[in-house]
Amino acid sequence: MSLPNTLVEARRILSEGGTSEDLVRASLDRAQASTLGAFNTLDREGALERARTLDLAQARGEAKGPLWGIPVAVKDNLCTKGMRTTCGSRILQDFIPPYTATVVQRLEDAGAIVIGKTSQDEFAMGSTSGTNAFGVVRNPVDPERVPGGSSGGSAVAVASGIVPVSLGSDTGGSIRQPASFCGVVGLKPTYGRVSRYGLVAYASSLDQIGLFANSVEDAALLLDLISGHDVHDNTSATTPVPDHLASLGEGVQGLRIGIPAEYWGEGLDAGVRASLEEGVAKLRAAGATIVPVQLPSTRHAISAYYVIAMAEASSNLSRFDGVRYTGRDKDARTLLDMYSRTRTSLFGEEVRRRILIGTFVLSAGYYDAYYAKAQRVRELIRREFQEAFAQCDLLATPTAPTTAWKIGEKMDDPLAMYLSDIDTIAVNLAGLPGLVVPVAPVEGLPVGLQLIGPAFREDLLLRAGKALESAG
Ligand code: GLN
Repeated sequence: MSLPNTLVEARRILSEGGTSEDLVRASLDRAQASTLGAFNTLDREGALERARTLDLAQARGEAKGPLWGIPVAVKDNLCTKGMRTTCGSRILQDFIPPYTATVVQRLEDAGAIVIGKTSQDEFAMGSTSGTNAFGVVRNPVDPERVPGGSSGGSAVAVASGIVPVSLGSDTGGSIRQPASFCGVVGLKPTYGRVSRYGLVAYASSLDQIGLFANSVEDAALLLDLISGHDVHDNTSATTPVPDHLASLGEGVQGLRIGIPAEYWGEGLDAGVRASLEEGVAKLRAAGATIVPVQLPSTRHAISAYYVIAMAEASSNLSRFDGVRYTGRDKDARTLLDMYSRTRTSLFGEEVRRRILIGTFVLSAGYYDAYYAKAQRVRELIRREFQEAFAQCDLLATPTAPTTAWKIGEKMDDPLAMYLSDIDTIAVNLAGLPGLVVPVAPVEGLPVGLQLIGPAFREDLLLRAGKALESAG
């Protein structure tokens, strides 16, 4: 069976007599044959069994839900009851959650079949998926290059046609940057739009679950399914969820698209710039007005982000102590020794680096100099976005200054790695939604244009994304 690239196509196959079992088997076969390393865990038996159950229900006329019988993939930091959830870390190598994340539950309630857990940077810390403890993750366009990260496996699973859609998480760009590097659509919703219940926390004030798709229409469909308040997450918003699918075709006529100079300056690769400018020109041709805007505090975003994210991470990851969950160094003789050996041997280098820096910036004597200051910068960034949105409806920026780099590059230079996040992190600091849509490749490598909107205006992003996609 040939695999569908989109949800829309998958639904057509199923409505024309195709079975979910065939679809899921084809998807699993492709995943198993793939050498790109998109998955940490595949649940072949479980997925096929569920597919057969859904096929039987379908035959009885009991099919319900827009994703009925369709295979999907979810990032390995989303809890799945009975299915291993590792966060790409050896410390959670055998962790089987007792419950399912709300987002995953919503997909399953709509009839989706989770075929497995996608590979990622350990605890979502990274920009390449290169710190995944269970194997290398490769870019489908050029396997010698990184897919981006941290949600690299989810991007690869969609880009290589294993599943039509997948879920990821985005704390500082982890959905948008791999979407750009792999040439797929990626959406990071507004903070609070989607429940984080069951997402293993990295930096709780920045983390947001979002999605990958091969079309903007699929992104809208999936967003509608996963959005909305959840009693299990008190940071999830009660703001009503509009019908994103219904407004998708409204176009960009009359919309003002802001171009923040700070994102388009120094450091942006010339080829990437040309491709992105061509994308913006298409939006203009479709009826949008282009307006210059300013976001001067952008230059402080990386410093503020890495202080806040590491501070929160040091606190969140303190729960992995060798006592709870799984993963324990067995040679220790005292409790203290056990904590320290477990955390030294089972966390990777990048995770340990961040826990140490995070603990440092929160410690007495340094708190004001680092953490409190970073919070003030965060507030400035938030306000500047608000001021920009008084002059325009949405913003268009690069997603990353370059295309995907070679595997191994930047791995021994953490600072260079952090700097590559320059275009995505301010959006998380301000809690805003960001959508990435592919534009023309540069030397064969994918590039995505990032559209940023005011809080809860995913509808505007998706409309503009659709217009860009339709412009070809
Ligand atoms: N690259 C960023 C970091 O390492 C973002 C990661 C993410 O969004 N999870 O923190």
